Amino acid sequence: MKNRRKFLQTAGLSTLALSLPWSESLAYLSSSKEEKVLRVALMGLGSYASRVAEAMKDCRRAKLVGVISGTPSKIAQWQQKYGLEAKNCYSYDTVHLLKENKDIDAVYVITPNALHKPHALAVATAGKHVICEKPMAINADEGREIVAACTAAGVQLLVGYRMHFEANTLEIVKKQRAGEFGKTLFFQGLSGFIIGNPSQWRLNRALSGGGAMMDIGIYSINGARYMLGEEPVWVTAQEEKTDPVKFGEGIDETITFQLGFPSGAIASCLSTYSLNHLDKFFLSGSKGFAEMQPSTGYGPIKAWTHAGPLDKPHVTHQTTQMDEMASILLDGKTPFLPVNGEEGVKDLQIIDAIYEAVRTGKKIMLPG
Ligand code: NAD
Repeated sequence: MKNRRKFLQTAGLSTLALSLPWSESLAYLSSSKEEKVLRVALMGLGSYASRVAEAMKDCRRAKLVGVISGTPSKIAQWQQKYGLEAKNCYSYDTVHLLKENKDIDAVYVITPNALHKPHALAVATAGKHVICEKPMAINADEGREIVAACTAAGVQLLVGYRMHFEANTLEIVKKQRAGEFGKTLFFQGLSGFIIGNPSQWRLNRALSGGGAMMDIGIYSINGARYMLGEEPVWVTAQEEKTDPVKFGEGIDETITFQLGFPSGAIASCLSTYSLNHLDKFFLSGSKGFAEMQPSTGYGPIKAWTHAGPLDKPHVTHQTTQMDEMASILLDGKTPFLPVNGEEGVKDLQIIDAIYEAVRTGKKIMLPG
């Protein structure tokens, strides 16, 4: 203790730091001037919000300080579990009051897909940075509305693309950009799981905006773009439905789709709610290949190339994501792979085109 006190005094730290237990002193150090901490409120306290909250316990730059929920009993539980002050807890009807709250920097919207737009707009209007779960909205027009609202309100908008910060993913992407695989002309993305409870919001179009594509297929779309490092110029797609009762009108069960890129590269992907163990990326180049399985699950991500396995250690994705997002929002850091609203809109444009291709049976051209 004596040594610690001496160290702190030598380091010129305040009596506040001296009066705190050792672990809290460390938190104080990391929240000093150079290392501001992002104070986050989570909106929608469902299963993914719970995962994010647990992961944030290990964050260095981001801290859970508040919640927005329609269920008072959940707010009480979360307050107790995470030590949240009552003044940082809101219902959906009182979100506008966030404007008066100086202790919250950003709100992470983790509600059903179709609610992302109204919720993101409410947060932006209240003057807080918006972090929005994927898909950012249920179509590109809604996505553009969110981008415009955040710009008009002078707040930043980020999308919860956790894979954009995952170490093995980034390693492969950097190898691709450095030409280690040669000319990459083929990507395969397989994304799916067997969905359970038929009465959940994911199978209710009014809340989900679609089926497997909105939820899990988006990982193959996003992955095709970051693994190839190009934007697609055309889309073709085919739908299969084995259970039209569970997967009603406007809820896609299985879609295979192909994306064509300016270089001539092609992506061939599968999105489904009817197959398990489907979480795989494969990238083929003239000089080598990369493979990932699992490729987008919560990890550990397993990745290897023609040269052997990758060995970046597993860190809980949401911990890294929230720390990195703090650097983006507080320090203006530019991430290697973007997570801004424009990135969210790009995936939504492709989803729109996939649905149009399924509907019309035609090849749909994209702006690229
Ligand atoms: P969930 O059903 O577990 O939670 C949704 C929450 O929204 C619930 O707390 C619910 O009470 C609340 N909610 C508010 N208004 C609602 C309404 N009108 N109807 C229904 N629920 C309402 O869902 P989840 O799995 O946490 O998914 C939430 C979002 O997070 C989705 O957009 C999903 O795509 C995304 N998500 C992302 C990842 C990822 O890895 N990035 C993983 C899971 C989910």
